[in-house]
Amino acid sequence: MLTAETIAATRAAVAAARTEGKRIGFVPTMGSLHEGHLRLVDEARRHAAFVVMSIFVNPLQFAPTEDLARYPRDPDGDAAKAAGRGVDLLFMPGVGEMYPREMRAEVIPCALHRRWEGAVRPGHFAGVLTVVAKLLNIVQPDIAVFGQKDVQQATLVRAMVEDLAIPTTIVVAPTTREEDGLAMSSRNSYLSRDERRRALALSRSLFAMRDSFARGERRADALLTAGRKVLDDEPTIAIDYLALADGMTLEPVETAEKGTVAMIAARVGKTRLIDNLILGA
Ligand code: AMP
Repeated sequence: MLTAETIAATRAAVAAARTEGKRIGFVPTMGSLHEGHLRLVDEARRHAAFVVMSIFVNPLQFAPTEDLARYPRDPDGDAAKAAGRGVDLLFMPGVGEMYPREMRAEVIPCALHRRWEGAVRPGHFAGVLTVVAKLLNIVQPDIAVFGQKDVQQATLVRAMVEDLAIPTTIVVAPTTREEDGLAMSSRNSYLSRDERRRALALSRSLFAMRDSFARGERRADALLTAGRKVLDDEPTIAIDYLALADGMTLEPVETAEKGTVAMIAARVGKTRLIDNLILGA
């Protein structure tokens, strides 16, 4: 596996792969890699002969009150995992390489950024889209893989790529879960053993909604009631939202259909977790 810390070295390695006629796949991450990230690499490999992964904890997408300083970092472990999974080029820039000065231009997300995650994390998606645009400009991949786990992020990235005519195809890969249903997340490492147990209420509430949908329920309020019932059994977690949204626009729906997304965000102790499920998938 090649590694690069600079934009110039990354561009040179990608250019060399292009000269060999290889399609370029890209998996952007913030590191502290888990199996969910590595399956995105597998997905990228299905589309591309040269797979680039980036690891960059992007300060632009964290509010001053959030967990930037304590976000888990494991560069050596990450490099070993990425190499083991067949990543061809690992781009690990420092903050000074990505943001040598205060940014003079940023991406403004569409109105969707004001809902769900954006409502709780003002400025978050401007930071995400700005770094994704910059990374896509650095790597210039044919395809880039994002996780369904962050459905609003994937939706906004797709919209940006379309609207700004960025010549990269966005592929969204399914959420990887632990055996007991918990969606894998770098932030799971913050959880104590007891919090880890309580965090299962998130996926359980989504599964309850999925089961109710499978039994034929289509009314959003009834489906949400089924989800909330599970959460009521775990009153120590603080729900930011539990919602049913259109799979394309992420606007709330009153009637669910195949493709509707059930979404949840909640705080377990100090750790904020998100999860979602596509109904009927
Ligand atoms: P992060 O490092 O958390 O910024 O995530 C990097 C990429 O991995 C994003 O596209 C995420 O949506 C994706 N991702 C994170 N966790 C999972 C998971 N459990 N399953 C699938 N994709 C994931």
